[in-house]
Amino acid sequence: MGQSVSRDDFIWTYTEQPHLSRREAILKAHPEIKKLFGIDYSFKYVVVAMVIFQIFMCWLLQDADWVLILLEGYLCGGVINHAMTLAIHDISHNTVFGNKYPIAVLILQHVLRLNKIIENIEFSYYGTWNLCTFNVGYHVEHHDFPYIPGRNLPMVRKIAPEFYDDLMIHMSWSQVLWDFVFKPSMGPYARIKRKPRVEQAFWGNYVLAEYIIGFLHYTGYYEMKRYAESVLDLNNNKKKI
Ligand SMILES: [Zn+2]
Repeated sequence: MGQSVSRDDFIWTYTEQPHLSRREAILKAHPEIKKLFGIDYSFKYVVVAMVIFQIFMCWLLQDADWVLILLEGYLCGGVINHAMTLAIHDISHNTVFGNKYPIAVLILQHVLRLNKIIENIEFSYYGTWNLCTFNVGYHVEHHDFPYIPGRNLPMVRKIAPEFYDDLMIHMSWSQVLWDFVFKPSMGPYARIKRKPRVEQAFWGNYVLAEYIIGFLHYTGYYEMKRYAESVLDLNNNKKKI
């Protein structure tokens, strides 16, 4: 019973990841792509509108039949919740508030919950679900230019089609899931892996640390600390002299 897989190890590759070299080549061939970098100022309003719409739908369904509530939860609430996790993803790349407002990034992310699993797919998806997922399907383009907001990612492919037309693509996420379960050549091992260049540690990245450090910078903590250290001579600099 159950499906079997034809692989029992990952596809190991010893070449460098392709994003850096492709980014350099694209920027050389199409320097105008830099115009797409930066902040999507409409993004926060779209996210707030989606959350308000969710609350409005709850209010509309307060006396509704359970069948209708379940259908709404799956067809509408599910889609918006999924879109919200992808909003978190865009926000985490500083394409919504920039680098100046770490606390705004932190709050909006925690409101929406952290989920970056969708980034683990290997190829771009150009289907219609991009319309309500902030173009997260433009996966290869996003990893080539992580500082381009989701809204502008389709433009990358339009400006530099010669770099993307020959890559494998997906047009259906349902098909990907179906193949993952039922195709022996797919499965958990059907992905490219590279050996890490530095030793990996379980707690190595401290995801929240950069936001906390950013917040402390923002509040002037480090300046006050430096000032206090020099006034109180905490590091004994004066005594050494
Ligand atoms: Zn990303």
